[in-house]
Amino acid sequence: MAIHNFNAGPAAMPRAVLEKAQSELLEVAGSGMSVMEMSHRSKEFQNIIDGAESGIRRLLKVPDKYAILFLQGGASLQFATIPMNLRRPGCGADYVDTGSWASKAIKEAKVTGRVNVAWSGKGENYSRMPKAGELNLAADAEYVHICTNETIGGIQWWTPFPKTSAPLIADMSSEIMSRVFDVSDFGMIYAGAQKNLGPSGLAVVILRKDLLGRAPEDLPVFLRYSTHAAEGSLYNTPNTWAVYMVKLTCEWLESMGGIAAMQKINEKKAAALYSTIDSSSFWRSPVEKESRSIMNVVWRLPGEALEEQFVSQAKKAGLIGLKGHRSVGGIRASIYNAVTPESVNALVSFMKEFEKRNG
Ligand code: PMP
Repeated sequence: MAIHNFNAGPAAMPRAVLEKAQSELLEVAGSGMSVMEMSHRSKEFQNIIDGAESGIRRLLKVPDKYAILFLQGGASLQFATIPMNLRRPGCGADYVDTGSWASKAIKEAKVTGRVNVAWSGKGENYSRMPKAGELNLAADAEYVHICTNETIGGIQWWTPFPKTSAPLIADMSSEIMSRVFDVSDFGMIYAGAQKNLGPSGLAVVILRKDLLGRAPEDLPVFLRYSTHAAEGSLYNTPNTWAVYMVKLTCEWLESMGGIAAMQKINEKKAAALYSTIDSSSFWRSPVEKESRSIMNVVWRLPGEALEEQFVSQAKKAGLIGLKGHRSVGGIRASIYNAVTPESVNALVSFMKEFEKRNG
């Protein structure tokens, strides 16, 4: 049975990317071996990692003054290494608390130093992003950290990104490559790969090179971004398979017309779901309209028992991964780049049928 995959991450990957990887599983680029068998120091792998980097650079128009790093430890390790590298001893950093992921970044940053929470949506159940002018930024912050798309709460940053005097750092794990934005607005962008870039086991970091020198002397070598930048992400053995999949994903994105074209498709997919949710009081969106995510669409039904039925019947119908995160409940459809409009249409049809039976 064909399934429709709405998993939050690891998530659906483009069919064309999987087929290409399948065709090259035993031998990549005339090397006689799989990408998983080749030295990360070989010329063949260098071409692959260069291809992944230049793909990201072209798609996101990343200026030369930014390094692109392929790291391990996921986005979660960046929660720890960002303050270690970029907040100098005795200094503070601003964090915007928009939900589960921003909170985790805050918790980690507090382990090693001072944090100013510049805004928090907690009192409003994380139902919206801050509006322009709401942030209480500290004058002496070393950087300002935001999460541009809260994967669990289903909210996304749509007002212009804040213009801050300290470098702006963004966790874009669940939205990178889904919409056009200007890299120059940021000091650093990072993302776990397992939603819109490739498989898990890899984090992509885009970091303005002038910030590389901030790391204190006593920081372990491995934990310094400068180490990985100096070695082209080959200081130690990277996740070669994941890097290869990122390269293929970038090639696929380019074949789809790039990020602007992808954004149009994503907006249409999201609109189909939100208009269904808004069409009747059977469904309820817990999120402010202006903050709705086009990647992670969350909604509620009248009662948890009905939500459970929805998820289990959807699964039987081939619609996978719709259960909301365990911390918040409800329904969540993650509709990353690789989730096709056909899959979203199938979900919309299922919702209409389900409402007819239970509404
Ligand atoms: N930030 C966001 C916005 C996420 O969605 C996730 C994972 N779902 C993470 C950080 C953590 O990523 P990882 O599991 O790669 O550490």
